[in-house]
Amino acid sequence: MRTSLDLELVAVTKRYGNAVAVNNITHLFPAGSYVCLLGPSGCGKTTTLRMIAGHETVSDGAILLSGRDISHLPPAKRGTAMMFQSYALFPHMTVRDNVSFSLKMKGEDAATRGRKADEMLELVGMGHLAARLPAQLSGGQQQRAALARALITRPQVLLLDEPLSALDPFLRLRVRGELKKLQRELGISFIHVTHGQDEALALADQVVLMNNAVIEQAGTAREVFLTPRTEFVARFMGGHNVLSLDGKRYSLRSDRTRIVAPQDRGMDVAVVAHEFLGTHVAVNAIGPGDTELTAMVPEEEFRLAPIEPGQGIRIGWNPADLHPLGH
Ligand code: ATP
Repeated sequence: MRTSLDLELVAVTKRYGNAVAVNNITHLFPAGSYVCLLGPSGCGKTTTLRMIAGHETVSDGAILLSGRDISHLPPAKRGTAMMFQSYALFPHMTVRDNVSFSLKMKGEDAATRGRKADEMLELVGMGHLAARLPAQLSGGQQQRAALARALITRPQVLLLDEPLSALDPFLRLRVRGELKKLQRELGISFIHVTHGQDEALALADQVVLMNNAVIEQAGTAREVFLTPRTEFVARFMGGHNVLSLDGKRYSLRSDRTRIVAPQDRGMDVAVVAHEFLGTHVAVNAIGPGDTELTAMVPEEEFRLAPIEPGQGIRIGWNPADLHPLGH
């Protein structure tokens, strides 16, 4: 539903000389939603985020927040705040002073700044570490300090540039849950740039998948994963096979394929490799016309009837699971 607090990109383009980093993007980011900007390296995600933040100028088009054109406002006047990948904390300042820095710039008095910083640090579970220097914090704690510093400006939209990439895999999962919870509690929009489709699926109310400077597909995590519009989306989101049948292109979830008997309907393929994934074994195979197929075989089934590279098998599926792809 469209509300007056939405963030809108209207025909936004960014050129660097002759190169087009973002090409005529129009998109509505609904207020209060968790949006993941996803896509391969160089597709224009960071440039889009930086234009929203005001750290990059717009070559063409407009950025509207709550119906107000913010395209030419300085970052601090936009109602947005950015959390950088590097966290960019001042090393010589305590966590509290880092968090309250922007309030100092606005001329707020020391007592008010300290109180607001402490409130924000409480919110991210860092109240007890307010007097430390950034170097005395773990990666996860630095990340929370950076989060508190961005949130203290009370933004309508928080922009996060690969906020989890510096964390180890275990911490990444935990912090990811915390980010989502925080977004719900604050009720503001988070726009989170990531390379990771799993991260986007886990977090996002809306996934915006970019490729070659444009939005390839946007929708709920379910929509983008279950109904990929193009081959690129199916391949990028993972978990899909792409098949050409009777001259038409389809995606087929790899967990919807199964190994069938030679007389059953299916495709004859040669097994190339298999990979143990815990609950399933991914069996990679090559079929007619060099079609690459991955079948997810439940671990137990695989154990009872192991398959080896070089072996011929037949892979079947329910025709209802074929999803047509556009161009
Ligand atoms: P990554 O995931 O690798 O960070 P990205 O999707 O965020 O990639 P951008 O950083 O937005 O991609 O870059 C988009 C395109 O614009 C790339 O081709 C990049 O080389 C180019 N680009 C980005 N910044 C500049 C710049 N300051 N000058 C020239 N070209 C740039």
